[in-house]
Amino acid sequence: MTTYFAPTRDMRFVIEELAGLDQLTRLPGYEDATPDLVEAVLDEAAKLASEVLAPLNKTGDAQGVRLEGDGVFSADGFKAAYQQFVEGGWNGISGAPDYGGQGLPELVLTATMEMWNAANMSFALCPLLNAGATEALKQHGSDALKTQYLPNMVSGAWTGTMNLTEPQAGSDLSAVRTKAVPEADHYRLYGQKIFITWGDHDLTDNVVHLVLARTPDAPEGVKGISLFLVPKFLVNADGSLGQRNDVQCVSVEHKLGIHASPTCVMSFGDRDGAIGYLVGQENKGLAHMFTMMNEARQKVGIQGLGVADRAYQQARNYAKERVQGRPLDQKSGDRVAIIQHPDVRRMLMTMKSRIEAMRAFAYVMAADMDLAHKHPDATERRRRQARVDLLIPVVKGWCTELSVEIASIGIQVHGGMGYVEETGACQYLRDARVTPIYEGTTGIQAADLVGRKLAMSQGTVMADLIQEMRGIEAELAQANSAELTVIGESLTAGIQALEQATQWVLQTLSQDPNAVAVASGNYLMLTGYVCGGWQMARAALVAKAKLDAGEDPGFHGAKLATARFYAEQIMPQADALLKIVRSGGSSILALSAEQF
Ligand SMILES: Cc1cc2nc3c(=O)[nH]c(=O)nc-3n(C[C@H](O)[C@H](O)[C@H](O)COP(=O)(O)OP(=O)(O)OC[C@H]3O[C@@H](n4cnc5c(N)ncnc54)[C@H](O)[C@@H]3O)c2cc1C
Repeated sequence: MTTYFAPTRDMRFVIEELAGLDQLTRLPGYEDATPDLVEAVLDEAAKLASEVLAPLNKTGDAQGVRLEGDGVFSADGFKAAYQQFVEGGWNGISGAPDYGGQGLPELVLTATMEMWNAANMSFALCPLLNAGATEALKQHGSDALKTQYLPNMVSGAWTGTMNLTEPQAGSDLSAVRTKAVPEADHYRLYGQKIFITWGDHDLTDNVVHLVLARTPDAPEGVKGISLFLVPKFLVNADGSLGQRNDVQCVSVEHKLGIHASPTCVMSFGDRDGAIGYLVGQENKGLAHMFTMMNEARQKVGIQGLGVADRAYQQARNYAKERVQGRPLDQKSGDRVAIIQHPDVRRMLMTMKSRIEAMRAFAYVMAADMDLAHKHPDATERRRRQARVDLLIPVVKGWCTELSVEIASIGIQVHGGMGYVEETGACQYLRDARVTPIYEGTTGIQAADLVGRKLAMSQGTVMADLIQEMRGIEAELAQANSAELTVIGESLTAGIQALEQATQWVLQTLSQDPNAVAVASGNYLMLTGYVCGGWQMARAALVAKAKLDAGEDPGFHGAKLATARFYAEQIMPQADALLKIVRSGGSSILALSAEQF
């Protein structure tokens, strides 16, 4: 029941038809990412995910990790699986070729990330954080640091972590207190970090921590934070491992889900200070770390997608096997599998259509990331980057919030068997639950979306996005098909809701920022639903053309029906959210703190 089959058919459809792989392979540096190669990569990744990582998901959940002596030990099988992962070159799939990576597009990495996370979210967190750390080091580190650390981080021989959070500094990183005292060519760090994912483990010989800390005379607040690289083992000039550094995991958290991912309390400088090296410039650490956080936020959105798809697969399989009752229009005869009941169908379609919308939206944004990096025209690069910046909080917030709802529906499909651990449905909900929390809660993503991303561009980037949506609306209006007409009408309503909500946010922001803060979470969800609907509408146009040409009617027929379901049953949430957004904040803020 807990097997995982990667949805490579839908992935290929999205990659080729919606995210425009063709266009990416014409970019300098991506010429090798041909459809054949991408297909081979997806097939091999699917094998590793289903045959190696997925079988460890449940056992890892049951066993968890353990802290013994100076180190954390991973659950059985994880070390061997990680070795296989590294030997297969999976860690460096989109890594810089200068440092041993394969340099494939972010789009391809995104598809593999979805598979790793669906198969085993605890495992996948390790390369996820490493990818962010690698990117931050690549962009901001000195040549010496890059030469010394990047090849091993790109290959996965060493893993990177992200050390931001402290007991008094969670969402608000201005309160970071860890100290970094300069000494010769390095610094000595003292302080404690909490909640550090894969902060210590036995998968690799070394762990490379990227740590936010303050130098002694740094200004207060975010302007006084710097970024440091602190290895678990110091690295000798010849690249061999040297002395054990003064950083260690002092405890691991017992938590709701992702039991096989160690969440560590890390202590820096208990003895003589942990040796660390400055990354980038002093006092610019938060900006540098944002490179990593943006990277990681996009990937946490993918994590939500992956775990949601796993929950869906499990629910769908169960619904095909579980026999119970008869449909209302059938008075006698054999009892049927629950998938025959309309209400179970509603639940499965709700899961499936949202997952496909999330996948299309997130993959198209991954292609935008590729265009932002590699497009030969600087104006187009800036345009794509602006769109990525705008949409990262939406991919993170919307996909992760939906993942929790989808995993919960997965339990409902199972009835009582969903509520017991035996089937595995519970684990997906427990695992998914952290995704709207870490890498910035949904509240923080929403504040970023309205307060920074929309406001900074005064709505122009959103207007450009809406303009593109209008192009699809026009194509649908010309189509001579009942299904496409329904989908087109729904897209029109969604676009109007997004446009009006955006106007409201921009107009209200300066007069009543609290009202916008109240509305921000709903605005983020509205944006997600409409972006998902836009991509489902594009998918419907392609599917209809392929159906008319007689191509793969099973897949394309299902895609068209799923897009119609989304248009009729999911997209109307945008209208409801518009109404809520416009209602302002007065009722939410009506009570004093004492009245709660
Ligand atoms: C399993 C797990 C793994 C993690 N891994 C890492 C890691 O590897 N590295 C790392 O550095 N951290 C990690 N974290 C920490 C994580 O990023 C934080 O928990 C998260 O950012 C929220 O911070 P907090 O827990 O302090 O919550 P708080 O900041 O106390 O937030 C509590 C609530 O208040 C809301 N809130 C707070 N401030 C605002 C605001 N300004 N506007 C609106 N709402 C607000 C939040 O949305 C939330 O609902 C991990 C956490 C967990 C649970």
